[in-house]
Amino acid sequence: MFDTLVRNANLPDGRQGVDIAIRAGHIAAVEPGITAEAGQVIDATGRLVSPAFCDPHFHMDATLSLGLPRMNVSGTLLEGIALWGELRPLLTREALVERALRYCDLAVSQGLLHIRSHVDTSDPRLVTAEALLEVRDRVRDYIDLQLVAFPQDGYYRTPDGAAALERALDMGVEIVGGIPHFERTMEEGRASVEALCRIAADRGLRVDMHCDETDDPLSRHVETLTAQTIRFGLEGRVTGSHLSSMHSMDNYYVSKLIPLMVEAQIHAIPNPLINIMLQGRHDTYPKRRGMTRVPELMAAGINVSLGQDCCMDPWYSMGAADMIEVAHMAVHVAQMGSVADKTRLFEAVTLNPARAMGLADYGLAPGCRADMVVLQAADVTEAIRLKPTRLFVLRGGRVISRTPAVTAALSLKDRPTSIDPGLDFRPAC
Ligand SMILES: [Zn+2]
Repeated sequence: MFDTLVRNANLPDGRQGVDIAIRAGHIAAVEPGITAEAGQVIDATGRLVSPAFCDPHFHMDATLSLGLPRMNVSGTLLEGIALWGELRPLLTREALVERALRYCDLAVSQGLLHIRSHVDTSDPRLVTAEALLEVRDRVRDYIDLQLVAFPQDGYYRTPDGAAALERALDMGVEIVGGIPHFERTMEEGRASVEALCRIAADRGLRVDMHCDETDDPLSRHVETLTAQTIRFGLEGRVTGSHLSSMHSMDNYYVSKLIPLMVEAQIHAIPNPLINIMLQGRHDTYPKRRGMTRVPELMAAGINVSLGQDCCMDPWYSMGAADMIEVAHMAVHVAQMGSVADKTRLFEAVTLNPARAMGLADYGLAPGCRADMVVLQAADVTEAIRLKPTRLFVLRGGRVISRTPAVTAALSLKDRPTSIDPGLDFRPAC
C-alpha cells in the first residue's frame, strides 16, 4: 500500500511508461506496472514527470517591485543598480515578505520548489535579510530557500559593506556572496574575493559570487575565484554566477581559465534571460550576447546550472518563475539545439543546480523526497519547446498545485475538433 502512485510517466532520462510509488513523502519505487494499492493515483498519461525545478540564482528581495519607485528607462544593469538604490531606503520588512510570499506562490505553480536567492546586505538596516529569513521559515514546507549575503553596492566600495555582510551571516544567511567587478578597482575586486573566501572557510559556508557580470574582456575575477577556492580548500563549494566576461575574453586566455575552473570544481551559473538583456549595451553592431561559454564549460566537465536571476524588478520587467523559459532562452543564446543539448539544458535547471546547492534526496530515484512535476509535454525536448502547463506539482508526495491541461477547441471544416499542444505535435523521431 502506497500513499501516492504516479502512473504512466515518461522520465527525463528517457524511460517511458513507468510508475512512481510514494510512501511517507519519499519515492519508494520507480518501475513499470506497479500493481499495489495507493491512497491517491495520478495518471500522467505518457507525459513527462520531472524532479521539481531548481532556480540557483535569484533576487527575492527585489522581485515584484517593478515600477517602484519608477521604471528603468535605459534598461541597463547600472541604471537597475541605481534604481534599486532609490528603492532601498523605502523598503519595509512587511512589503518585502508580502512580495516574496506572492512570488513563492507563483513558483510553486510552476513546479519551482528549490530556490537560492541573493539578499542585498548594502543597507545596514538589513531589513532585506530579516524579511527573507522570515520567508525562508514560512515557505519551508513547500520551498527550499537558500540565502546568499550579497553586498550589491560592493564589499569594499561602501563603508558598511564588510560589517553588514558579516552581520547577515550572523543572523542566519547561509552563503557568502560578492560582486568583485563592481568594487572600485581591479585590485579591490581581487581583495574582496580573497576576503570573502576566507570568511566562507572560517565559517564553514559555501560561496556564490556574482563574478565578472561585465563585458570587460580583461576582467580577471574568475581566475582569482579559482585560486582562492583552492587556497582555502573550498573545492566543490564555490559558485561563480554570471561569468559574463568569459563571453568577451580572448580564446587563448579562456583555454587557460577553464582548466583552472575544473581544478577548483567551480559551479557555473549563467543567467541567460538577464545576460542577453543587460550585456552588450555599449556595443553598436555586432552586439555581444554576454552569456558565458555554456557548451565549452559543460564539455570540460564543469557543473553548469541556469538561473532566472530576476522577475519583475529594477533589472528585468519580465519573468514568470518558469525555469523552462530560462532553458528555452539558453537554447537560443548558446545555440544548443540538438536533442543532446536540450537534455543537458534541462539538467541545468534540475539535476545540476541541485548539485550546486548541495540538495540532499533530490531526484526521481527510490529514496529521494517526492518533489516532482507532471508536465503537459511528452519528453524533455518537447518541454523546452513548449514551456508547458504544470499539471501537478508534488511536494513530499502531496499535490500542492494543479493546473488543468490546455487544449484548444477548433471549429474548422474537415479538421480535428480539438488539439493538445503537448501530445499532438511530437516529432517523428
Ligand atoms: Zn544576480
